[in-house]
Amino acid sequence: MLIPTTIAGSLPKPAWLAEPKTLWAPWKLDGDALAQGKQDAVRLALFDQEHAGIDIVTDGEQTRRHFVTTFIEGLDGVDFASRQRVRIRNRYDADVPVVNGPVSRRHPIYVDDARFVRTETTRRVKYTLPGPMTMVDTLFDAHYRSREKLAWAFAEILNAEAREIAAAGVDVIQFDEPAFNVYFDEVRDWGVATLERAAQGLPCATAVHICYGYGIQANIDWKQTLGAEWRQYERTFPLLAQSQIKQVSLECANSRVPLDLMALLAGKDVLVGAIDVASDRVEAPEDVAATLRAALAFVPAARMVACTNCGMVPLARDVARGKLRALAAGAAIVRRELEAA
Ligand SMILES: [Zn+2]
Repeated sequence: MLIPTTIAGSLPKPAWLAEPKTLWAPWKLDGDALAQGKQDAVRLALFDQEHAGIDIVTDGEQTRRHFVTTFIEGLDGVDFASRQRVRIRNRYDADVPVVNGPVSRRHPIYVDDARFVRTETTRRVKYTLPGPMTMVDTLFDAHYRSREKLAWAFAEILNAEAREIAAAGVDVIQFDEPAFNVYFDEVRDWGVATLERAAQGLPCATAVHICYGYGIQANIDWKQTLGAEWRQYERTFPLLAQSQIKQVSLECANSRVPLDLMALLAGKDVLVGAIDVASDRVEAPEDVAATLRAALAFVPAARMVACTNCGMVPLARDVARGKLRALAAGAAIVRRELEAA
């Protein structure tokens, strides 16, 4: 099938599970009710994706409060009680947990969730994990005193988790590395290497998602500083092209990314972001089709996947559902054109 569709990962949560349009929203349930509520939310996320016509589905990240923090909560060596202020991705300050000893995985974190989503759908499943560099960038490190050493420790933990998630039968494991758009020297020196360590030996396809973030104010302000052309991917794509990672997800819709940068990803599957997650405007299928057609100048159809720019967790649910339908319908337009040609 040409140009299958998928999403970056997250979807909004039902209002009975967590406050809508809020990052890090606390759970509204607890105990067994929370466990059941998360599973019901995963079922709804799958329902919405399947009814929209999305081909490679996710759990909508319904079982996690945040794409990085929730994973780190499952680790030893991180103190969530004592917080230190740091600057995340050189963009905004946050009071973050402190690494105060060797980090290790206390128990499998998302493995049961991955098994659950596998049993609830017959479609291909993608499972998302944070990448090592992005994890490092959300913590204050009082133990390793080295971003690189901490990243290698996280990579080993991620690999153990990813192997168990792959064994649950998922088709793609994607690591989210928005930090790759900020720390270019570190990406070159150890970022791609630690990412490959996290993905080492996995029997399923592997992906990395890089982006310009959710539509939150700090990201909108940052984008204003990036100039007329966003060429950040120019530094990372050649490194990823030589890596073992099979798929690369990037932002294309309503962004100033020169699409010809995708030509630097020769040999990789490219997840073309054709849905703007920083806007409540629901794209028309023809908008999505136009983005995909433009990308076809630089990515062969056989290696193209239609995707969202980033996660949709901060959006209203009806907006996210509309965007899912637009994504599937837009990809279908281009698929029909290619098949007719
Ligand atoms: Zn993203």
